[in-house]
Amino acid sequence: MADKPLYKRVLLKLSGEALMGAKGFGIDDAVVDRITADVVEAYRLGVEIGIVVGGGNIFRGVSVVAAGGDRTTGDHLGMLATVMNSLTIRAALVAKGVPAEVLTAVPMPTICDTFTQRAADAAFAAGKVIVFAGGTGNPFFTTDSGAALRAAEMNCDALMKGTQVDGVYSADPKKDPTATRFETITHQDVLAKGLAVMDAAAIALARDNRIPVIVFSVHESGSFVDVLLGRGRATTVTP
Ligand code: UDP
Repeated sequence: MADKPLYKRVLLKLSGEALMGAKGFGIDDAVVDRITADVVEAYRLGVEIGIVVGGGNIFRGVSVVAAGGDRTTGDHLGMLATVMNSLTIRAALVAKGVPAEVLTAVPMPTICDTFTQRAADAAFAAGKVIVFAGGTGNPFFTTDSGAALRAAEMNCDALMKGTQVDGVYSADPKKDPTATRFETITHQDVLAKGLAVMDAAAIALARDNRIPVIVFSVHESGSFVDVLLGRGRATTVTP
């Protein structure tokens, strides 16, 4: 166990579903409060934190395709959903006294600033938590890929993937009681075994840029800080 954080700058990826709690749709304020409290604690340790949040609690592009619609339009709606979640997280952080800024891949200047590496460098230099909204800004991608992309662009030391379970398993532990948990695994093995950690494009981007992916559960209070201090339960995906 370390008394100092293992990483100086991290990218925290949260799925949209993590924000909806037991509600089944949308945003549960109590969950946002708990997760942002963890982020505040990590911030107070001096960690530079970028956050990418998904939009699956509000909208997913594939649901439009399932209904016979156009994927690109659906993905635009999904990206807008990530902006709603991002604004919510920023507001919760600011309410807790932590400076935070949303930078979006999809320009909407009346609502928040547009992502550029320069703007993000300036925000980190000013001591802000950055919420990167809009995923990659392109259809046919996911916010997992957006998270890996921002982690690479911003030279993050780790990509912290907050999930429903406490690491990477050989199979879905909720469906298969014989599933075993990995303490560490390589990016290449995640891809070769087809493990559902993040989508393949995101894992490949992390692999090519030698960014470790730390997979942990966001359901327990304090888990983000525990993992940052090397005492939490997590799987480390290493180069
Ligand atoms: N999306 C997209 N491009 C991106 C990121 C997201 O088109 O770079 C859209 C896509 O429709 C996706 C939705 O936004 O389904 C929500 O993102 P995601 O599914 O990654 O959210 P999560 O599963 O993490 O909640």
